Amino acid sequence: MTGTDPIAAAARLVAASRRTIALTGAGISTESGVPDFRSPTGVWSKYDPAEFSYQNFVARAEARRKYWRWSREMYPAMRDAAPNPGHLALAALERRGLLRCVITQNIDGLHQRAGSTDVIELHGNALRAGCLGCGKEWPRDEVQRWMEEDGVLEPTCDACGGPLKPRTISFGQAMPEAETRRAFMEAAASELLIAIGSSLVVFPAASLVPAAKQHGAGIILVNRTPTDYDGIADQVLRGEAGAVLPALLAALPA
Ligand code: NAD
Repeated sequence: MTGTDPIAAAARLVAASRRTIALTGAGISTESGVPDFRSPTGVWSKYDPAEFSYQNFVARAEARRKYWRWSREMYPAMRDAAPNPGHLALAALERRGLLRCVITQNIDGLHQRAGSTDVIELHGNALRAGCLGCGKEWPRDEVQRWMEEDGVLEPTCDACGGPLKPRTISFGQAMPEAETRRAFMEAAASELLIAIGSSLVVFPAASLVPAAKQHGAGIILVNRTPTDYDGIADQVLRGEAGAVLPALLAALPA
């Protein structure tokens, strides 16, 4: 390995940092078979994100039925996905005491299944659904069965009749307060932030990168394509997260 090898340089940053955090996006899960939103084959190549705003969902039965048709189609890929070497490498970094927490925009639960124990979910979790009226919750699996086996088009609450929605944050919906506050606190206190598989265009999650930088943290970006923040990164690791992260782990001193 030479002094200019990006993986070796990134490993030196990780080894020198006393407080490293990760920020992950949909790109860390594409190798698990869960499509991202903004790649050429991503979800937004087939659907219009404006249609899936929270305001639309709340206001119009037709929008709720359309959302659930989409959700019914998307959910099995998430349910059946397994963590890939990228998720596993982050869990291994945590076990070695080299990673404090994972802040994720993902809703697939794959970090937890890989063994990461401190995961801050900024956009909720798709494995549960809840009533917007009374808050009653169901495993998402159960709601999927109502749709697939009983022909339900727009799931509603058996307690209050309110609309059900996956426990995820839609465009226009308020971010979870405690998680958002902790994420920005972690960014401000970190010495190194590794952002993986995120287009870094969804806010406020994306602003964790400049927030960490402003507080003096180093920045490593792992992505198969450029992002708007490449210019402020100390190291850009171009490639597939499932290859880059295990390579980074392997390059660290034992
Ligand atoms: P995004 O779709 O906007 O961007 C994904 C980024 O990852 C792109 O820059 C792409 O080039 C990169 N990428 C894709 N596969 C990669 C790989 N194997 N290795 C390295 N880079 C890879 O995703 P985002 O920034 O997370 O924002 C989209 C929003 O969509 C998030 O808020 C998230 O909640 C949600 N989302 C989540 C999932 C999931 O939970 N798996 C899936 C789709 C969307």
